[in-house]
Parts: sequence; structure tokens; C-alpha cells
Amino acid sequence: MATLNDLVSYTNGLLNIAAFQDYCPNGLQVEGRAQVHKLVSGVTASQALVEAAVAAGADALLVHHGYFWKGEDPCVTGMKRRRLAGLLAADISLLAYHLPLDAHAELGNNAQLGVVLGLSPEAWFADGRGPAIACHATLPEAVSATAFAARIAAALGRPPQFIPGGDHPIRRIGWCTGAAQGYIEAAAALGLDAFVSGEISEPTVHVARECGIHYFAAGHHATERYGVQALGAHLAQRFGLEHRFLDIENPA
Ligand SMILES: [Zn+2]
Repeated sequence: MATLNDLVSYTNGLLNIAAFQDYCPNGLQVEGRAQVHKLVSGVTASQALVEAAVAAGADALLVHHGYFWKGEDPCVTGMKRRRLAGLLAADISLLAYHLPLDAHAELGNNAQLGVVLGLSPEAWFADGRGPAIACHATLPEAVSATAFAARIAAALGRPPQFIPGGDHPIRRIGWCTGAAQGYIEAAAALGLDAFVSGEISEPTVHVARECGIHYFAAGHHATERYGVQALGAHLAQRFGLEHRFLDIENPA
């Protein structure tokens, strides 16, 4: 059992939230009851996840994608009202960690996607705009791009969209979870053979082809399921909480 205050201040420090300029507030976004026994984690604080957390008897909900994004309409109406009403009626706190959770060297989305794909980060890199949350690794031996696509499919339970960047095998590979397709140019500049992110956009295909770097879009949701699970498990152990990760299926 933990007090909400202890849980939040420990997690804020662990993820070093003060070091990030983010698109949303990190930490406690919605305050619920003062004691936390049961922690539920999930990728996005959607209505479906809020309802599942209520049904699971959660005291607090831990997510990667919370609320109050920069530039969104701040009014509490419609979809936002329904989500907040669900949390507030059940006295459930919402803890959200965005970039700090992408970046954490052990529990973060990128570190944990590395674990899932059998890649151990040797260095971190940025895209020239955002923080250095992408990483790269060297495979013990070169593999074909189609073999690597199969490895992603097996690890994530979902085939990636594969854009060939030539005929070369993969030895050095970069990755960044979520909507990190823009990091492909930095990956190409580093001379990596391939790059994996969650989402793809139209220009990503041209960069892959013209810069000669294989590209895999492995899914925004699929690549960002692991950080919050690792963090939830860590907090459960640290504070003696019950923890459950609830996966709300999302094909994007
Ligand atoms: Zn994301």
C-alpha cells in the first residue's frame, strides 16, 4: 500500500519529469483517493480503459497517453467529460507519463521494446527537434530484412508494415516507439541499416527508399505497451501494490 503522494513523488523522481519539455503534463493528472492498493496500467486513458479500471477496482490508473494535450480544446465537454466523470465518480487517480516514459533507460518504452525484440541499446539519439529517446543496437550477425519483419511480427503479435530501403541485410538497427517516424532521417544519417517506429506517414516511405534504410512501422499502440507494464510492475514491487496491465486492443 502507498499513499498517493508517495507514489506520485517517487515516480516523478524516478522518471525525472522535470527534465522534459512535453506536450502534456506528466505525473498526477487527476487526483483520486489518498491510498493506493490496486494499480491498473494501460497505454491510453480511453473511456474503455477507464471503465475497465473501474471494473477492476483500481485506486489509480497509470498510462502513457493521458489528457490535457497542448493545443487541444481545454473545455470539459463530450468525450473528455465522460472520461473524467468515470475517473472522478470512482475516485480513481490518473498518473500519466509521456516522454519521460519513452526515455527511461530501463523501464521506458524504448528500452522495453528493445527487450521484447532482443535488442540491447548501445546509444541514444534525437531527431534534431525532440529529446534523445530513440536508440540503436548492433545485431550479433546480419539478418535479412524479411527475417527481421518476421521477428517483429512474432514479438508483437502483429505484422509490421515493411518499406524496403534496398537489398542490404540488417546489422545496425534503430528504433523509437509511437509516432516517431520523423526520427528515420536521423537514423539514416547515423548510417543505420534499418529503423523501427510505431507509426508511418507518407514521407517516411520516400526517406526509406531514397536514403537506403529499411523501415518497419510496428504500430503505435503495439510498440508502446511495454514501458507502462514495466513501470507498473516496478511500482508494485517497490510499494507492495497489486498491479494489472489492461490491454485495450488498438490496430493503429
Ligand atoms: Zn505514443
